[in-house]
Amino acid sequence: MRRCVRCARVLLCAVVAGTTVGAQAPHERTPAGRASWLEPYREPAARLIGEAVSNAFAWQRLAVLTDTIGNRLSGTPALDRAIQWAVDEMKRDGLENVRAEKVMVPRWVRGSESAEIVEPARHQIVMLGLGDSVATPPDGVQAEVLIVRSFEELDAKSTLARGRIVLFNVAYTNYGETARFRSSGPSRAARDGAVAALVRAVGPPGLRTPHTGALQYATDAPKIPAAAITTEDADRLQRIADRGSKIVVRLKMEAHFDADVESANVVGEIRGREKPDEIVVVSGHLDSWDVGAGATDDGGGCIVTWEALRLMKKLNLRPRRTVRVVLWTNEENGGRGGLGYRDQHRGELAKHVLMLESDGGVFRPLGFGFTGNDRAFDRVKTIATLLSGIAADQIVPGGGGADIGPSVQEGHMPSMSLDVEGSKYFVIHHTPADTVDKIDPVEMAKCAAAVAVMAYVVADLPERLGQ
Ligand SMILES: [Zn+2]
Repeated sequence: MRRCVRCARVLLCAVVAGTTVGAQAPHERTPAGRASWLEPYREPAARLIGEAVSNAFAWQRLAVLTDTIGNRLSGTPALDRAIQWAVDEMKRDGLENVRAEKVMVPRWVRGSESAEIVEPARHQIVMLGLGDSVATPPDGVQAEVLIVRSFEELDAKSTLARGRIVLFNVAYTNYGETARFRSSGPSRAARDGAVAALVRAVGPPGLRTPHTGALQYATDAPKIPAAAITTEDADRLQRIADRGSKIVVRLKMEAHFDADVESANVVGEIRGREKPDEIVVVSGHLDSWDVGAGATDDGGGCIVTWEALRLMKKLNLRPRRTVRVVLWTNEENGGRGGLGYRDQHRGELAKHVLMLESDGGVFRPLGFGFTGNDRAFDRVKTIATLLSGIAADQIVPGGGGADIGPSVQEGHMPSMSLDVEGSKYFVIHHTPADTVDKIDPVEMAKCAAAVAVMAYVVADLPERLGQ
């Protein structure tokens, strides 16, 4: 399904390309048909790509982050350590104006948790409580299970849900479609009187890996505890139910919120040589869920965008405008980093030329998703031709991210997301399997190269992107 979405985007992209390239003024083309304004960028782009792919620096830095600090849920000492580590490392890289910008974040604590089938035969279920869930009573909840495969089926069986644990056993299609059952399923079940909710892991079948992720309680329903279970365990429960057997499950969770705590977005810059107050932001989120190592989501996005600045510094490339890396806090369960940045930088949002976020993994890069006016789209598409050597030259409509969203919306600026080959991402997303070994150093280096070239050229264009 994700592939289908991509195909649709590619087709749309082809249509857009067909119209915009034809509209370009003749004087902007060399006799060979190439955009003349792009020519000065071929040499720095080649240097940026060459430096990025000549070693495994990005992957090694990610391995250090994930091996020595590990996962980084908002409000944990681990995230605090990661923030301090990033500040220290950015300074060591020679970035300018390195700082931690304070943001208050929620602190959700998982506590111990378990689930088991009690009837018809005892069997431990592999589970992960959903982020922001409430606890069960200390002895847990034990109840008969009602399995539904859609919200419509829940509505049809609403009278059966009272006093039960509702399992949403919905096979993964794509993230947006399937994550609905994780985010709003618990409150839908609670309205019908359910005492707890279970959700089939949001992802393709893995190797008995549960996928956590945030739920959103509705204000008009009781808060009931909710957990994700593996696809294998969901299938087992379904088979038992299909044979007509009664299923009883016991769920125990200690999850709760403590008071908000101080956290921070980490910021570093390469100041622009001519227009330092105009800014290109590249970014990823430093917080992660509390399982796995937060390598793909989103340590990798942090490192490859940060690499853009490190590579420019290393090669002594200083663009006309400022390039700023932001490592966001609290993307996973609150979005406070993105909101805090918008509020703290409100006065300079009009000077933001572009905001880019990488939060879809750092697998083989394909190019970028982009949202902006036609002129900006055309420019970006031409810049991306500099990435044809690493096959990362595809620009498709639609680019953004959860953290840049609030600023992009308020500042009405173009936005962009790194686009990568996506088949592996949702297999390990929010699971104990999100570790650095799933990431290929060469693919990751190419992601860094792609971001570096795009950020450098956009920041250096004689005219502001889109004008
Ligand atoms: Zn993420």
